[in-house]
Amino acid sequence: MNCPYCGYDDSKVIDSRDVNDGIRRRRQCLSCEARFTTYERLQPASLFVIKKDRRREEFDRDKLLTGVRRACEKRPLPEDAVERLIDEVEAELYRLGGTEVASATIGDMVMDRLKGLDHIAYIRFASVYRDFADITMLKEEVDTLAGRAGVPSADQLPLIPPEELGVAATNPRQVR
Ligand SMILES: [Zn+2]
Repeated sequence: MNCPYCGYDDSKVIDSRDVNDGIRRRRQCLSCEARFTTYERLQPASLFVIKKDRRREEFDRDKLLTGVRRACEKRPLPEDAVERLIDEVEAELYRLGGTEVASATIGDMVMDRLKGLDHIAYIRFASVYRDFADITMLKEEVDTLAGRAGVPSADQLPLIPPEELGVAATNPRQVR
């Protein structure tokens, strides 16, 4: 592994730890002393994804990454959140140990994690991923999430004050 800064071909390992079924190594270039990180991962046996129309194709991490990135576009997520999500899904897939997996299983794994990460990204991913037959279910899901986010009931102050929403205060408690 050449140094990404000066191209020198030798480095020493200054730290090494297990991450997501791989090994992360912190290295220091023996020439310019710059530090960089490498990941070592076992190349698993091929995993095939069975699509809804029964077509079979090799699991493609980059393709999944692109799909999830698209769903997370412009969402306030940490820079490496999507990458980590994909790492987890990939690790889980290989832990299952089979050589084939239904695309629906992968979709569910992604959705489970997106749901805990960002509701908008979750809904975007689900709406692209799910069939039309599932749309009613998705709508119920959206309603549940919206409800949990706090639609103010009569005896509760709204989460966001009306003046911030640009509406005139109509709540009697606030005009007093
Ligand atoms: Zn260097």
